[in-house]
Amino acid sequence: MSTDPSTTPERSDFIRDVVADDLRSGRHASIVTRFPPEPNGHLHIGHAKSICLNFGIAREFGGRCHLRFDDTNPTKEEQEYIDAIEADVRWLGFDWGEHLYHASDYFEQLYEWAVHLVRNRLAYVDDLSADEIREHRGTLTEPGLDSPWRGRSVEENLDLFARMRAGEFADGARVLRARIDMASPNLNLRDPVLYRILHATHPRTGDAWCIYPTYDFAHGQSDAIEGITHSICTLEFENHRPLYDWFIERLPVPSTPHQYEFARLNLTWTVLSKRFLLRLVEDGRVRGWDDPRMPTIAGFRRRGFPADGIREFATEVGISKRDAVVEIEQLEHVVRDVLNRRAPRRFAVLRPVKVVIEDYPEGQVEELEAVNNPEDPSAGTRRVPFSRELWIEREDFMEDPPAKFFRLAPGREVRLRYAYFITCREVVKNAAGEVVELRCTYDPATRGGDAPDGRRPKATLHWVSAAHAVPAEVRLYERLFVRPDPGADGDLLADLDPASEEVLADCRLEPAAADLAVGETVQFERLGYFCADPDSEPGRPVLNRTLSLKDSWARAQAQGKTAG
Ligand code: ATP
Ligand code: MG
Repeated sequence: MSTDPSTTPERSDFIRDVVADDLRSGRHASIVTRFPPEPNGHLHIGHAKSICLNFGIAREFGGRCHLRFDDTNPTKEEQEYIDAIEADVRWLGFDWGEHLYHASDYFEQLYEWAVHLVRNRLAYVDDLSADEIREHRGTLTEPGLDSPWRGRSVEENLDLFARMRAGEFADGARVLRARIDMASPNLNLRDPVLYRILHATHPRTGDAWCIYPTYDFAHGQSDAIEGITHSICTLEFENHRPLYDWFIERLPVPSTPHQYEFARLNLTWTVLSKRFLLRLVEDGRVRGWDDPRMPTIAGFRRRGFPADGIREFATEVGISKRDAVVEIEQLEHVVRDVLNRRAPRRFAVLRPVKVVIEDYPEGQVEELEAVNNPEDPSAGTRRVPFSRELWIEREDFMEDPPAKFFRLAPGREVRLRYAYFITCREVVKNAAGEVVELRCTYDPATRGGDAPDGRRPKATLHWVSAAHAVPAEVRLYERLFVRPDPGADGDLLADLDPASEEVLADCRLEPAAADLAVGETVQFERLGYFCADPDSEPGRPVLNRTLSLKDSWARAQAQGKTAG
């Protein structure tokens, strides 16, 4: 088992090719990338792809990667998000060293550069309202209209911009715009807004500023200040690149970064939008940002997805220029694969029914040897207590079994894993007619799970000794949405599955599964992978089902191979 990200194999892609060329040609002596989250929510698995790409390239090419908070909108940004983002990036296995930055560190420099544009008649203060600016903007087929304020003198612009900063005007009263071209076929070049007035307290700069730069004005210049060589972002910024370059060419910036775009990660059954995820949290539809059903890094962590599994997935899906939707089953497959190699096997009974072995001595306890992980001999074995009264899974018994049901039934013999063969002799029911107890007998010669005469029951069941069982709560998770393309009909909330969480309050664990550390993952035999939840209390573990054992991705791949 390894959590060292440097052991994850990387594939080549068009961005890595560019980086390799730039090093070979001497265009750059070393590589500097950055991951630039806006701290307006928690990171999701799409961000994980970007993190793996930026930090991965820096590591592979001996460069460095900065973590930079794009904190230019104080109305939506919070310290809680900043802290959570740092924790998530670290958990994923990456480290920015001393290179932690904030766009807000550069507010003074950015302001000076905006003044530089004004002095060079490349920017002006506009008194139009946000609505009017939108109306003047034109469309893809029609040019925009010049603002009546576009011709202001340099002196008037300098004066008004200084007074915007000094707080003389109300929110939205004026903006600073670049003077580029209202007829440009690229709408981003139609005099984009550089600064807006916002009387809001910033998590870092407090009340020092009441004008804030836009993403477009802050981003490239922040890259230049930090000496970023390759500014990697998602495809929706492709037609912002001419604007990115426009600023870099006209400002006295200390370096010349270049922007490269790749296709964002989209996943079936999943919505990757901080805004929507925030909505789910605010509306109480989930347990929080780290709800195990959330596609956030914190959610996957709480669910029991290991960091190296997420990194491996990011490598597998790779980097491309074309938008595509990845099946979530692929992520689950990678995670199952990691957990299968690593997770210790344990016994748990989720929906218990009592078994009493009538001919097993009362008060006797045997410690039976069980394998911890058949995939990993070094994981060794453990002792599981066995006694006269046990719990088995309710669904492993049927009073009137259909032809294909091979588990326990009246008169039938099954194997209890690592223990004995038992035969059901009698079914005890309560007044309501529900099965409450199965009276059984056992064959002492089958200790350990094999019969000397070679007979083999058709089913092997898991079990927990009643006297030794630890009660636990287990939370079963299904997909958050009822369809693979949530929101396709226009209403995301309507596609939420109200039954995506099922809480089982009366589960029983073998003692070895009783005190898992929060975040520790085990495989409950025959049931799936489970992870200890932070809601656990001493003597009262709470576990989340990470994944069941059914790997539909592997099956689909296998079928694809035989078919093709
Ligand atoms: P959201 O739309 O969920 O709010 P965002 O793009 O606004 O995401 P940022 O904090 O601005 O969030 O993103 C930080 C970085 O992560 C950006 O470089 C962005 O391109 C990248 N990123 C965001 N979503 C994805 C995704 N689904 N796949 C790959 N990279 C992504
Ligand atoms: Mg954003």
